[in-house]
Amino acid sequence: SHIKQVEFVKSSPRARDCPRDGRPEFAILGRSNVGKSSLINSLVRRKEFALTSKKPGKTQLINHFLVNRSWYIVDLPGYGFANAPESTRTDWASFTKGYFLNRDTLVAVLLLVDASIPPQKIDLDCANWLGRNNIGMTFVFTKCDKVKGGKGTRPDENVKHFQDLINKYYQEPPPWIMTSSATGLGRDELLLHMSQLRNY
Ligand code: GDP
Repeated sequence: SHIKQVEFVKSSPRARDCPRDGRPEFAILGRSNVGKSSLINSLVRRKEFALTSKKPGKTQLINHFLVNRSWYIVDLPGYGFANAPESTRTDWASFTKGYFLNRDTLVAVLLLVDASIPPQKIDLDCANWLGRNNIGMTFVFTKCDKVKGGKGTRPDENVKHFQDLINKYYQEPPPWIMTSSATGLGRDELLLHMSQLRNY
């Protein structure tokens, strides 16, 4: 399950522009600032590897990274950017939905959820949309090292609360993994999980 080699392949404006070599892929998705760039960099053990700009509207692009010449990590634009105009959010929705609904080689979505804050409606909405459309997903909780004092700021409580909300919707809740790019927590578990899904 180790990552020996990573190469950037291409940025695609639409699902139909994505690579067509049939290799399996994992899409990484989450709210802006969830820790997506940090997680991708920690997975591939490089700094500043993810090329996606954080400004919505500028990079409505699907970025393919080929791992070990055999499977892809796909970096999608972050959603729910606080300052994004409504039109940009709508663009995001149709653009990203097109990718999810048409990408046959998509093994699973890694939906990143910030464990250092209480459950956010936009993350639950995204999970429910993916679930309704039968798109396989794994919850990857980020920033699990971040412990502050006070109620509602502990990662384990936030994660439990999020799962309680999700469990209402699913007979079989999606798998989940606790991670921290700061400490490396969950990195090996996530890589193993992806290799098991690929070989399933
Ligand atoms: P992105 O916008 O989703 O790509 O998020 P970034 O990877 O740029 O991270 C957003 C902020 O969260 C930055 O200030 C990071 O340093 C911080 N961050 C990301 N991952 C972690 C983590 O695992 N632990 C902690 N404590 N902070 C993190």
